Amino acid sequence: MRQRFGIGYDSHVFAAGRPLILGGVEVEHDRGLKGHSDGDAVTHAVIDALLGAAAMGDIGRLFPDTDERWKGADSIALLKEVRHRLNAASYTIVNVDVTVILEAPKLAPYIASMCDNVSRSLGLPQSAVSIKAKTNEKMDSVGRGKGIQVFAVASIGGA
Ligand code: MG
Repeated sequence: MRQRFGIGYDSHVFAAGRPLILGGVEVEHDRGLKGHSDGDAVTHAVIDALLGAAAMGDIGRLFPDTDERWKGADSIALLKEVRHRLNAASYTIVNVDVTVILEAPKLAPYIASMCDNVSRSLGLPQSAVSIKAKTNEKMDSVGRGKGIQVFAVASIGGA
């Protein structure tokens, strides 16, 4: 089995009147993330890392935001779809590592549930999924709380 790697990145701006969904978990906060889907930047970055590892395009190509089918979409459902597409192409997902950058709220109380959602959606043991959160030390727009940035790396095995 040849090992392959992919990188994923996503950013979303905070917006009032929306729930904050990260890794399929609703995080208590006064704002959510703007987006055509549920705005789950963690799951979107993981999806792009997986698709990148398989050289199968990106989230925008698979689930275009011009398509009404994906309006308000549950990103975890999209992640499961990506898992099936990789499996159908004979790829095995090995592990995923994520770094979330946001000034607030603190994600520590939610990290275990987020890892649980992502690992179950991918059919992986919990030990194969890592999600870490940090602030931007008040630097730049993310540091001023305007939005969130997420980096993800995925490893898969296959042809
Ligand atoms: Mg996104």
